[in-house]
Amino acid sequence: MNTHARQAAPESPHGHAAGIDPDCIFCKIVARKIPSRAVYEDEEIYAFHDINPWAPVHFLLIPKLHIASMAQVQAEHAPLLGRLLALVPRLALEQGCQPYPEGGFRVLTNTGRDGGQEVPHLHFHVLGGPRPWLRG
Ligand code: AMP
Ligand code: ZN
Repeated sequence: MNTHARQAAPESPHGHAAGIDPDCIFCKIVARKIPSRAVYEDEEIYAFHDINPWAPVHFLLIPKLHIASMAQVQAEHAPLLGRLLALVPRLALEQGCQPYPEGGFRVLTNTGRDGGQEVPHLHFHVLGGPRPWLRG
């Protein structure tokens, strides 16, 4: 049996049983094996404050499903990612971003090494609050 076949689980098209990667830091955060400061949670989505914020508001919005990055996103993920992105306006305001257009926020997802991605579990940074920011 090759490595790919050994890792593949019937429950998931992503090669991980139940859609999680036991070695992934964000999967561990979802499982509460690593602490985080929650912003939002439902059955499929988790949001938590970035441990090293660049801006007065900086939280991460992730699918609980382990998708390594935007590079692995497929059509089947569209409803999940649509629901995830549709949460941004409400959560941004709740976390202290000022209303559009004077306020607003930045949403970004780093992808791969050239894209500056450090944690290989798909996540959307939501940044906001008064400038200047440390980064972004
Ligand atoms: P990226 O470069 O897009 O992969 O960004 C990963 C982000 O995850 C960085 O902004 C980190 O500060 C953040 N991060 C890493 N570990 C944790 C953690 N345990 N809790 C909250 N945020 C984290
Ligand atoms: Zn993960």
